[in-house]
Amino acid sequence: MTEIAIAGGGIAGLAAALGLAGAGARVLVLERAPSFGELGAGLQLGPNAFRALRQLGVDVAQLSMLREIDELRLMHGVRGQMLGALPLRDKFRARFGHPYAVAHRKQLHGLLLEACGRLSNVRLRSAAGVQAFHQDGAGVTVTLDAGEQLRCDALLGADGLRSVVRYHLLGDGEPRLSGHLCYRALVDYEQFAPEARENVVTLWAAPHAHVVHYPLAGSKQLNLVATRNIGACSHEAGVAVSSEEVRAAFADFAPLPRDILRRAQNWRKWTLCDREPVSVWCDRRVALVGDAAHPMLQYAAQGACMALEDAVCIAHELGGANGDPAPAFARYNAQRWVRTARVQLASRQMGEAIYHAEGARAAVRDAMVAELTEDALLERLSWLYGGPRASEVHGYVG
Ligand SMILES: Cc1cc2nc3c(=O)[nH]c(=O)nc-3n(C[C@H](O)[C@H](O)[C@H](O)COP(=O)(O)OP(=O)(O)OC[C@H]3O[C@@H](n4cnc5c(N)ncnc54)[C@H](O)[C@@H]3O)c2cc1C
Repeated sequence: MTEIAIAGGGIAGLAAALGLAGAGARVLVLERAPSFGELGAGLQLGPNAFRALRQLGVDVAQLSMLREIDELRLMHGVRGQMLGALPLRDKFRARFGHPYAVAHRKQLHGLLLEACGRLSNVRLRSAAGVQAFHQDGAGVTVTLDAGEQLRCDALLGADGLRSVVRYHLLGDGEPRLSGHLCYRALVDYEQFAPEARENVVTLWAAPHAHVVHYPLAGSKQLNLVATRNIGACSHEAGVAVSSEEVRAAFADFAPLPRDILRRAQNWRKWTLCDREPVSVWCDRRVALVGDAAHPMLQYAAQGACMALEDAVCIAHELGGANGDPAPAFARYNAQRWVRTARVQLASRQMGEAIYHAEGARAAVRDAMVAELTEDALLERLSWLYGGPRASEVHGYVG
């Protein structure tokens, strides 16, 4: 059996563990935190995520806190009127074969964790950060933070935005600071007027800022993410901020989004980072998955979805290479990098051209959105939600 160590037990690491174990490997997941868990509340999952979960054998029916969404809606953040909407039920579902839904991060992570826990060929170790590795012709020696050394056949870096494995593999420095500051909170949604309680992902677009909210299943809460491009130049992650700071940052917004923001408490803020796409993220017996490989702004709501697709692909390639990690990792990298690069760049582009546009750019956006029919929108999105195509990754079925 091929022995594979995975650095990082987030969504990417656990999904990869599940896939690789299914392909016959013995997997050890090494998580730096004292316990396995996931920060943050909501997560949007496109049809491509459900396709990948099915391939991984995950029974999404067990996600009781999963909510299929009726519509993606784009609003003018300052003037308050609707610019456009994409219905997500009939035609969308028929075209992509799977739903568009929102889930609780913890529940999705918990489901992956449970699925890994049921497999005798997956071991999970917390408080086991990966500090370094060395590979030779026969395997990889992994050094943990405490100095312990482990020997395995291959190593996957699923250790997120500031991946240590990436640092040693590619040495391409710190992630790029986008300058965008993102505030996150949950707010009890029963206190709102019906238009704020709809089963819709709503995005309010304004010059240099946008607000997204959607209802979470089971908890009667709205998941709120409010982002402003302030040219932020320091790394911040999960720092508590006052409601006054958030109110002041979005004071130019229309009454309804302002009211929603005003009622939320316990805000935390993050500076948003991504990286330039790269074409190579593996070297023989070591490879990257998830944010470690292709960190992106969250504007296409696809970071976790891409991590799930990575897991399906790498597992398929390992199975196809009879457990030999080096050729499997090379093929996985070749299969995945263009698609994930496209999502990285599309996410940035969505921020600039749609969410944060101002002046003439905003007017062009409004005109273009008004012209788009439902069919035209579905066509534009088919590369993302309909993918990866069978021609891109062998073994994918719809
Ligand atoms: C505001 C926001 C909203 C988002 N919304 C969506 C969305 O709606 N849909 C979507 O698909 N995506 C979304 N994303 C993106 C998504 O959250 C990420 O892409 C996804 O969580 C990445 O998972 P990961 O496992 O690669 O990385 P992480 O979640 O960062 O997990 C990395 C894990 O590795 C561990 N670790 C770190 N270093 C080491 C080490 N040296 N050794 C061992 N363990 C280590 C960490 O403790 C962590 O558990 C959003 C992101 C943000 C910021």
